[in-house]
Amino acid sequence: MVEEVLFRQAFQAANVGIGMLDINNRWLKVNPAFCEMVGYSEEELLYMTDEAITFPDDLKHEAELKDKLFKKEIKNLHIEKRYIHKDRSILWVSLHISMVFNENDQPQCFIIHAEDITMKRQTEQTIVENEQTYRLIAEQSADIVGRYYPDGTIFYCSPSVREILGYEPCEVINKTPYDYVHPDDQHKLAACHNQVTNTNKEKTCARFRTKDNTFVWLESIIKSIKDPTTDQPKEMIAFSRDVTTRVTAEHELKKSKQRLEQLFKHIKRSLDGVTDSFITVDKNFCFTFINKEAEQVLNHSRTKLIGKNLWSTFPELVGTNFDLKLHQAFAERCAIQSEFYFPTLDDWFHFRIYPTEEGALIYFLNITKRKQIETKLSESEERYRSLVEFSPESIVVHINQKVVYINPAGVALLGATDPSDVIGKRIWDFFPEENHDVLYQSFRQNLNGNHKQRFTGHQVTTLDGETKHIEFTTKRIMYEGKPAVKAILRDVSERKKYEELMSKSEKLSLVGQLAAGVAHEVRNPLTSIKGFVQIFQASKSYNDEFARIILDELDRVESIIYEFLTLAKPNQEMVFKKLDLKLLLEQVVTLLDTQAMFRDHQIFTDFDELPFVECEENQLKQVFVNIIQNALEAMSSKGAVYIKLKRHSEETISIDITDTGRGMSDERIRQLGEPFYSNKEKGTGLGLMVCFKIIEHHNGNIHFSSKVGKGTTVTITLPIKQNKHAYELISQ
Ligand code: ADP
Ligand code: MG
Repeated sequence: MVEEVLFRQAFQAANVGIGMLDINNRWLKVNPAFCEMVGYSEEELLYMTDEAITFPDDLKHEAELKDKLFKKEIKNLHIEKRYIHKDRSILWVSLHISMVFNENDQPQCFIIHAEDITMKRQTEQTIVENEQTYRLIAEQSADIVGRYYPDGTIFYCSPSVREILGYEPCEVINKTPYDYVHPDDQHKLAACHNQVTNTNKEKTCARFRTKDNTFVWLESIIKSIKDPTTDQPKEMIAFSRDVTTRVTAEHELKKSKQRLEQLFKHIKRSLDGVTDSFITVDKNFCFTFINKEAEQVLNHSRTKLIGKNLWSTFPELVGTNFDLKLHQAFAERCAIQSEFYFPTLDDWFHFRIYPTEEGALIYFLNITKRKQIETKLSESEERYRSLVEFSPESIVVHINQKVVYINPAGVALLGATDPSDVIGKRIWDFFPEENHDVLYQSFRQNLNGNHKQRFTGHQVTTLDGETKHIEFTTKRIMYEGKPAVKAILRDVSERKKYEELMSKSEKLSLVGQLAAGVAHEVRNPLTSIKGFVQIFQASKSYNDEFARIILDELDRVESIIYEFLTLAKPNQEMVFKKLDLKLLLEQVVTLLDTQAMFRDHQIFTDFDELPFVECEENQLKQVFVNIIQNALEAMSSKGAVYIKLKRHSEETISIDITDTGRGMSDERIRQLGEPFYSNKEKGTGLGLMVCFKIIEHHNGNIHFSSKVGKGTTVTITLPIKQNKHAYELISQ
């Protein structure tokens, strides 16, 4: 009985619900724990069946199992089922059911141990549900969701791995992320992997190999999940997103940023490197950039200037051209360049202003030196211009066969009243028609070469109808940027007159000196003629022999007088004629022979047969007379003069007149031709000057070679043919 009491007490006090059901499932006995579990009192339950409080869906399953108990197929039974609480809520219970048989082995009742497992069931359910939800999320996610064991072995991978890396999820199972990571990112991944066990959550970005062997950037958030019992990492979950586009964009950005930075550095360097000073100002005229050059020019440190206002820092700039132009550039939003004088620096600057969104870029360059040069240049240009303007020589500039400039002397020379009378005309319009072609050709030659040409012996007809003798030189120059021909004209009419006068006076003196010789020469035959005539008169008879002598003597007198008269004839206009120089020289020798004999000198001649030479007879005679006479005069006692006429070249002949006189020093030779330079008592010192002039007109040449005490040779070369309009080319 004690046992029964103990059993009853245990039954009443038990924590688990215990109940007894008859074979018809009527409650026979329930303990308080069971009553509390289902919400009914014992009295209420004893009138109820187990079916009445069981969730209908679970009835069938339980009945089947209980049937097995009946048939003794099983000894006891464990099921989980739902009860409907008195308050209509549903509770999960874990039931241990056993069957009690009587001594006849007939089923008598069921003993039920019930435990409320609602809480546990709910948790389990939630877990399942959650698991399902998460799996769904993972499966649907565009990111790769991967689960790993702490050693990195993958045991789950979401299907998005297919889209992102090209693998089937099953392919990656049992692999590790290290099998796929880019070698360069391996360390990154390992670091993250190690770290995550401490921090629980890590983020990393690494490249992973795709199935087709390319790499994609995956940004992964990795979470470590710990086993609650051991507190050791149980698994890791990684959410990986394809960020290739972003990363490459970032890389590109970084690269272009670097490039930009380099560019900036370069620009900065080159801005510092430019000799132009460079500054930028904002809309309020505050400095925003200043290059090194500008810093030096402005003599202010960059750091101090940045942000400062231009006008308050440099008040002296207010009201300058720079101020004006900067405001204009701002107002009109157009680039402007100009120059200004910076008073404080005492320098000139050229500046360029470019308006920008933010304000303006200003370049400026110190041009003081250039300005000075320019001023000097314009001063010197001015000087040259005035030199040209006031030059007594006539200066004419020709472009494209037209006069573009003529100085006042030129205007006067050409008998014009104003430069405009001549400008636009051709200079050779003033020359005789037959010269035009030669002049035009030589002007063209001028333009092609860099030589100077000299023209002599020309005449121009001025606008007021006068004829003037001119000499001129032409040379190519650049005039206002164009190739031009500059001609310097000289009026030699005066000189010509003067030279003629000199030549006349020289001739007079020459004739005067000759007169004595001529008189002597004439007197001798006249004396003999007179003697013979007196013999005729006395004998009153005619002697044929005597008559022949008289006639001979008269011929000689006649020829001497003829020669004398030709030489004494006033200068005529120069006319070149083809002459036999041999004859001409013989005539001169006739004139001078008497004089020579008179001085006990001899004249030897050696004349080659030569073609006729184009020359002016009277003038050449004058030259030969003077030179031979000089030769005779140079010899004091006995002496000889040798005259040699020969061919000199294809186009020239030469005449050598050699004496055995006193000779001349080189110094003396250099002075020859200067007028009035004579060391003779009756000398004029004009002879050689006239000779030079005449030979020059003949386009010939006179050369002296002499030895003091030994003698002198004068060599005259003359062209056989005269080119009347020949011009000289003087190489520069
Ligand atoms: P002039 O005969 O009237 O003195 P020229 O002009 O003919 O003037 O000569 C100038 C000078 O040159 C002469 O006075 C003489 O001193 C010198 N001279 C010219 N020819 C000779 C010569 N053949 N030998 C030496 N001296 C000469
Ligand atoms: Mg002389």
